[in-house]
Amino acid sequence: MTDLAARLSAIDSQIADAAHAAGRDDAEITRIVVTKFHPAELVRQLHALGVRDIGENRQQELSAKAEEVALADLRWHFIGQAQTNKAASIRRSADVVHSVDRVKLANSLDRAADGGDALDVLVQINLTDDAGRGGVTPAGAEALAEHILSLPSLRLRGVMGVAPLDEAPASAFARLRGVSDRIRGLDAEATWISAGMTGDFAEAIAAGATHLRIGSAITGPRPDRG
Ligand SMILES: *Cc1c(COP(=O)(O)O)cnc(C)c1O
Repeated sequence: MTDLAARLSAIDSQIADAAHAAGRDDAEITRIVVTKFHPAELVRQLHALGVRDIGENRQQELSAKAEEVALADLRWHFIGQAQTNKAASIRRSADVVHSVDRVKLANSLDRAADGGDALDVLVQINLTDDAGRGGVTPAGAEALAEHILSLPSLRLRGVMGVAPLDEAPASAFARLRGVSDRIRGLDAEATWISAGMTGDFAEAIAAGATHLRIGSAITGPRPDRG
């Protein structure tokens, strides 16, 4: 077994253990492998190991890799902060956008629709007190979700959050869960909770995460940004 295969299978058993400890079925949890800064070749290796969900946080890297890898059964998740002028490029390459945090971005993604399927989107919630971080405030989440529901080419799937560095992840994820419950009240299909990274995915699973974004624990350390 390669190191990559060993790390992937170790993380998958930890995911299963955390799910069972929380009384959940691990089959309802999607493990996204975040491959940012790694070459496209790594995505191919992951695909050969059965990975189908890939996460990227920069538009240019997403677009270049999706084009280079060109495997039809991969789902590309855009998880980074998005500029509105990159919305069309993001929409072309991504199957899911986790980081919709303002009306303007939602509108730009909607305008970029090309008549194909609706784009799955999540409302990114800022779980920190720092307004400069990505995400809408928990108090502003429902208004943004309502707006997304009015845009025909976007399909609201739920919420996404990153735990702050200066707070126990469990309490941050409980807050995200609260926002998720309110948004599910607006649309019963908006059930996804994208939360949990290398350092906190067990806590995220305990709080109800449906989509984990795991990078370095599976890929190994990220190469320098260059
Ligand atoms: C990089 C990144 C991850 C994965 O981080 P790891 O700690 O390597 O697992 C998850 N979510 C977002 C938004 C990221 O940018």
